[in-house]
Amino acid sequence: MTDYMVRASSAAGEVRAFAATTATTVECARAFHNTSPVVTAALGRLLTGGAMMGYMLQGDDKLTLQIRSDGPVEGLTVTADAEGHVKGYAHEPKVILPIRESDGKLDVGGIVGRGTLQVIKDQGLKDPYIGETELVNGEIAEDLTYYFAASEQVPSAVGLGVLMNKDNTVRAAGGFIVQMLPGATEKSISTVEENIKKIRSVTDIIKTGKTPEDLINMVLEGLDPVIYEPKEVSFKCNCSRDRVSKVLLSLGEKDLKSLIDDGEDTELKCQFCGKAYKFTVAEMEELLKSAY
Ligand SMILES: [Zn+2]
Repeated sequence: MTDYMVRASSAAGEVRAFAATTATTVECARAFHNTSPVVTAALGRLLTGGAMMGYMLQGDDKLTLQIRSDGPVEGLTVTADAEGHVKGYAHEPKVILPIRESDGKLDVGGIVGRGTLQVIKDQGLKDPYIGETELVNGEIAEDLTYYFAASEQVPSAVGLGVLMNKDNTVRAAGGFIVQMLPGATEKSISTVEENIKKIRSVTDIIKTGKTPEDLINMVLEGLDPVIYEPKEVSFKCNCSRDRVSKVLLSLGEKDLKSLIDDGEDTELKCQFCGKAYKFTVAEMEELLKSAY
């Protein structure tokens, strides 16, 4: 089934919500990067959160979520646009930790550890907006919740889940973001809080085949949700030979020269999708000439 997300608001307009199902997108990331199950869960949660946060953007704006942490995965990077396109990678994709004893779940917080979450919004202005918060527990959803409250001053609740098949491919993925807008009444706030409490595990809900609309109806139950148009979500990388050649140039004249002197082809892989680009010695010489 195609991944998609919806946005919605309470009838009174003081609560807004986003919900997404992202199994195909997360499986795409898993296949590109050959991630271990626990890394697939971590990256999948961040991709899902990123897709919905992308839906909050306007026009050509771009969003980057950057986690840098002291756990074995070391970091995760996701970018998204307003059109449902996401991409991302884990710095150490193959990390494995035992299933967490306390709840029998993949230990996402364990591989992420402590660190920071940076949210970079490129709105086409000279300087991008950058918000940075400490990670709460590395479980991604709580980290995003804290980011919204601390950096954007928007009280929010975020739920994200990724469920694996026995063969470590992705069975289900998805999540929601609910946000209190100015003017939200105590009654609306407590209604949402009660709804969220009832949900407990997003993974348990999405594995039963629930849609983004179902998720919205759960988180905004009792608030007469109005659901707006759905938007397709997909893993899409916009890398090109031209972009990758810029990476090669960014090595600097000296290093590029030494690659040429080695007399062998150089292969560079796109970080986001793993696609390999090969440059022959003649092509590197051409590149060098064009730039220096
Ligand atoms: Zn790529």
